Amino acid sequence: MIQNVLILGAGSAGLLAAITLKKKLPALTVTVVRSSDIGVIGVGEGTTPATPVHLFEYLQLDKARFYAEAEPTWKLGIRLLWGPRTHFDYTFHQQLDGRYENLSLAPGFYADEDFRGVSIASALMEEGRAFPRHPRAGGAPLINAGFAFHIENLKLVATLEKIAAELGVTFLEGKAGGTERGPQGIAALLLEDGRRLAADFFVDCSGFRSELLGRALEEPFASYDRALFCDRAVVGGWERTTEPILPYTIAETMEAGWAWQIEHEHHINRGYVYCSQAISDEAACEEFLRKNPKAPTSPRVVKFRSGRYQRTWVENVVAIGNSAGFVEPLEASALMVVADTSQTLVQMFEETACAPGAAKRDLFNQIAGNYFDNIRDFLALHYKLNTRLDNAFWKHCREDTELGGLLPLLEAYRKMGPSLELQKLIPSSGNPYGLDGPLVMLLGNRTPYEARPHITGAERATWNNLRATLLTLAIKGLTVKDALHAIRSPQWRWQS
Ligand SMILES: Cc1cc2nc3c(=O)[nH]c(=O)nc-3n(C[C@H](O)[C@H](O)[C@H](O)COP(=O)(O)OP(=O)(O)OC[C@H]3O[C@@H](n4cnc5c(N)ncnc54)[C@H](O)[C@@H]3O)c2cc1C
Repeated sequence: MIQNVLILGAGSAGLLAAITLKKKLPALTVTVVRSSDIGVIGVGEGTTPATPVHLFEYLQLDKARFYAEAEPTWKLGIRLLWGPRTHFDYTFHQQLDGRYENLSLAPGFYADEDFRGVSIASALMEEGRAFPRHPRAGGAPLINAGFAFHIENLKLVATLEKIAAELGVTFLEGKAGGTERGPQGIAALLLEDGRRLAADFFVDCSGFRSELLGRALEEPFASYDRALFCDRAVVGGWERTTEPILPYTIAETMEAGWAWQIEHEHHINRGYVYCSQAISDEAACEEFLRKNPKAPTSPRVVKFRSGRYQRTWVENVVAIGNSAGFVEPLEASALMVVADTSQTLVQMFEETACAPGAAKRDLFNQIAGNYFDNIRDFLALHYKLNTRLDNAFWKHCREDTELGGLLPLLEAYRKMGPSLELQKLIPSSGNPYGLDGPLVMLLGNRTPYEARPHITGAERATWNNLRATLLTLAIKGLTVKDALHAIRSPQWRWQS
């Protein structure tokens, strides 16, 4: 039976894992070891709705305190400067895989021509608003589910560390230098200063170093380099002056990859994710600075590899966060994987009175592997469909990107268009994007399809009225700045 858990690493993954374990299984002794010499990665600032759901619904953390200390802003989705349209938006609210009253076809057939305002979130994004106004609460923001956060990595880490310590998690400063093996896997972590830290169970949250899973246990790494070709990012931001705080992340097509724009309250964070086989670091920095003249003249270069370890739970070690795997940040999915993996681990501990056996471990590995692979396939689809630029890098993406489980969907789409029947081709287990995500990419990029069902004038008018209603509602909504002001007013009360 597991009683003592040692977590190596206090980045956002280690801290979220520590809080999740301690909050849900308070009898566990949870210790976190970290090295301030090594520090945290310092990038990873966009989330999906899974993060607020994990923090406030699953963990029931205090919203007022979290907002005051971590200072997140809201993200309704991603604006893609991608494909032939000026832009299209992928929101966290369903856009294209539902049915509408009085419309006989799937929504994608109507959205083909004009993609704006196809859901309330997409209408809000179109109008630069974060939330509609509450119909009864004096125009206050209606902060419902379906939003994500932009949060500065260091502020998130500082906030989570305080919360973990208050829950009873112990923190030790020190650099891991090796391990002592035992019959169950690892018996103890050995620190460079000579300390020996024994535990029943180890959670490897050491980031890309993957000290326990990768280095000590030598679990093989399965690269995603046939699907995702980017492996570096230049990162640099600037203090906000007159720029409005946008309620979304921008993903902009670049010569050899794409660039994010993430919106903090006082800071704009930009980063260019690129393929080092297609462009040198110097040329990537030059392109980045040319397009972002406010960025610092020596932006930071971060290297990464997309892929995952074959198993993320081996013997008595489970890896969570970048130590388990990493899928490049196009959909800002890493914290979602951390939350999901931490919940699965807790569930397996709960179901077995903290004595999970080999069957649970195998199931965990299958779940974690599927989840990573499904994210990989969705990101690969982004690259495969983007026709914005016609240079060697983007031709290579269109021709050679492997789509894994989404290939049958693309082939069927080319014939059937955005039919809801395509749902049957979506790998269902551990798929965070459903049919909506791929449909938004296909429609957004204007991927050609054969089927052209007749749309009557009446149906076209109904569709346009629906969108116009949403856009009218959205324009009366609150900007991020207005909504931040509202939640900081003395009258504001968070709903639990
Ligand atoms: C370019 C880029 C952009 C990204 N964008 C996003 C995004 O938008 N959204 C998102 O969710 N994620 C993003 N990520 C991923 C993001 O980095 C992670 O989600 C998140 O920060 C978790 O990191 P981590 O805790 O796994 O690792 P880290 O932050 O690297 O933490 C590792 C911890 O382990 C400790 N450690 C390591 N080795 C030792 C040792 N030997 N001894 C003692 N301690 C040790 C370190 O001190 C540190 O505390 C991005 C990543 C990259 C590379």
